[in-house]
Amino acid sequence: MVSPQAMQVLKNELPLEQENLLLSGEVKTGLVLVDIVNGFCTVGSGNLAPQAPDAQIAGMIDESVKLARGFCEKRWPIYAFLDTHYPDVPEPPYPPHCIAGMDESKLVPSLQWLENEPNVTLRCKDCIDGFIGSLEKGGSNVFVDWVKTNGINAILVVGICTDICVLDFVCSTLSARNRGLISPLEDVIVYSRGCATFDLPINVARNMKGALAHPQDLMHHVGLYMAKGRGAKLVSEVVFGV
Ligand SMILES: [Zn+2]
Repeated sequence: MVSPQAMQVLKNELPLEQENLLLSGEVKTGLVLVDIVNGFCTVGSGNLAPQAPDAQIAGMIDESVKLARGFCEKRWPIYAFLDTHYPDVPEPPYPPHCIAGMDESKLVPSLQWLENEPNVTLRCKDCIDGFIGSLEKGGSNVFVDWVKTNGINAILVVGICTDICVLDFVCSTLSARNRGLISPLEDVIVYSRGCATFDLPINVARNMKGALAHPQDLMHHVGLYMAKGRGAKLVSEVVFGV
């Protein structure tokens, strides 16, 4: 656990200004779920799953379920990434995780109902950056096509990990938007309470060969800060309008 003093220094030096988001339907908004799969979220589900119940991850799942329910009620589009790897294709620097065909690469139990919803596009990806992971062999991009087909003006992004798969996807999408590759998308919105990252404190990492320390609260904050620095909007509340 990072000391409260360290977090305070971080918050003083890198303050996060956040907005509230009202989903009224006036701006066509799509929900993007990043890797809310057992292999990253469910205790004991593989090498990169939490080893004990984790409050930040549980909160991220709760918020994502609420949003997914709201989007499905309104039949608004949802795009869900599922990190999925074949056992013989490693993804350095990570150990094997989210193996295809195993529970690890499936949505967490509280989101599995999404598999049967008509407004949901599921996308298995075998790389960190979901924008790249949406590329097809022929060069088309399933995510870009989803934005265009649905006429999406804003995406609301939630999932795990804030500073890894969420951040990389957000950065690539913003670059694509800035290059005019993904019209009519205008805004990339990151919901802070709908994101989470993993915890590997320095005292644990020190005893693991080659491991990088990854204190959860600190890296979550840094991930959000970097996303904002690249041009994402950051929100701490999301409300459905009438
Ligand atoms: Zn992966």
